[in-house]
Amino acid sequence: MNKNEEYEMTIEDIGNDGEGIGHVDGMAVFVKDALIGDHIRLKIMKVKKGYAYGRLLEILQPSDFRTEPVCTNARACGGCTLQHMIYTEQLAYKWNKVKNCLERIGGISNAASLMEPAYGMEHPYAYRNKMQFPVGTDKNGNAVLGFYAGHTHSLIPLKECAVGHPINKYLLPVIQNFINKFHIPVYNEETHTGLIRHILTRVGFQTGELMVCVVINGNRITHSNVLYEMLNDAVQIYNEKSPERPLTLASLMFNVNTDKTNRILGQTSHLLFGKEYITDYIGDIAFRISPQSFYQVNPVQTKVLYGKALEYAALKGTETVWDMYCGIGTISLFLAKNAGQVYGVEILPQAIDDAKTNARLNGIQNVSFMVGKAEEVVPQIYESGANGAKADVVVVDPPRKGCDAALLSTIVKMAPSRMVYVSCDPATLARDLKYLTEHGFALQKVAVVDQFCHSTHVETCALLTKENQK
Ligand code: SAH
Repeated sequence: MNKNEEYEMTIEDIGNDGEGIGHVDGMAVFVKDALIGDHIRLKIMKVKKGYAYGRLLEILQPSDFRTEPVCTNARACGGCTLQHMIYTEQLAYKWNKVKNCLERIGGISNAASLMEPAYGMEHPYAYRNKMQFPVGTDKNGNAVLGFYAGHTHSLIPLKECAVGHPINKYLLPVIQNFINKFHIPVYNEETHTGLIRHILTRVGFQTGELMVCVVINGNRITHSNVLYEMLNDAVQIYNEKSPERPLTLASLMFNVNTDKTNRILGQTSHLLFGKEYITDYIGDIAFRISPQSFYQVNPVQTKVLYGKALEYAALKGTETVWDMYCGIGTISLFLAKNAGQVYGVEILPQAIDDAKTNARLNGIQNVSFMVGKAEEVVPQIYESGANGAKADVVVVDPPRKGCDAALLSTIVKMAPSRMVYVSCDPATLARDLKYLTEHGFALQKVAVVDQFCHSTHVETCALLTKENQK
């Protein structure tokens, strides 16, 4: 097989990033935008040892799972990777991915019988409460807002995003006009010159509060009063068209990022108009969100996911609960009203500051938050016998690499009667469940919750109990 050769093949499988996988002369070929069941014509782009990458040229016979993407730019955009797959199939794909990991990596042969049906969204669009648009220039030197094409930094102009809040469609042209009207220089990554880098928008879905934050390579932005008025007008037009859920422009900020970096936000943000944060609710818990705050991007499904965690924790009101890798304390606060005492641990000091603020904001007193590595803090507390050394329920929500081995072995020693594992990577979840089920825990239930519709990301909530009890 050689580069530039053309072949026909049928897609048999789907890879980790949603790419289709088929075989030509016994060699696996990965093709972006091709779906299981598609019969396609492709061009070989790159040949590696044992596998190759191809480019989709033509769909000769479409898969039954194929649908027309909602976004015209879906193929170029680096955001969604599964918009061309009907939503129920996306859910089936995610469910199967978890099942396969549990069986193959976790050694859990009855995985399917423990798994609930996948929890998807009724309307899997317009769900994201946060968007970050890079700003660039077109060939005439005018500012354009857009998105990066997959795996690159080439900017594709964007008018709207189907998974973002619909207000963005109204804001994008206004911001573009503002930059062009005052000839504000747009940031150039290569030369590290120019001012405007990114636009961040956040919406409190429950409160209707909108934040716009302009990320700049500098310390000041001029004419911000005009920007505020232009944005406010756009919000009013949106509200007239969608009166059922009106928004208010609660916060206009700028963030300073003068580093030559891929990171979008810098360390400091400053207020231009309104207040320095917006508020939103998950269930009946209020969260204060500033530009840099971590906050789950799909509030509707977050409630479903953490609702599952609450259900699996089955609290009666007196328990000692740990929330490990607690972030801004979302799960801790969610569980606190039904628990005796909750302990949260998290590595990022800013997240713990937010967690403490959120606890205060909600008048929740039976939580205490600690900064540090879970795998250091929890063993120390366990060994010292201090408050929190014993736990009735342990919840973990680790990053993709899963739980640290030292933490898992301490949890085994703490022997909580229930453990709830919230995971964003089914492979590391399965690895950790293998350890836990070999050390006195039994897997009882698993729920897949679709937080990132049209992407390949999978969120899972699993319940384990100590083996001698149900
Ligand atoms: N439940 C949280 C999100 C958890 S995401 C919320 O809703 O806010 C995983 C978290 O683990 C991140 O906040 C990350 O900063 C934190 N983290 C990463 N490594 C860690 C470690 N070794 N110990 C403690 N926390 C860690």
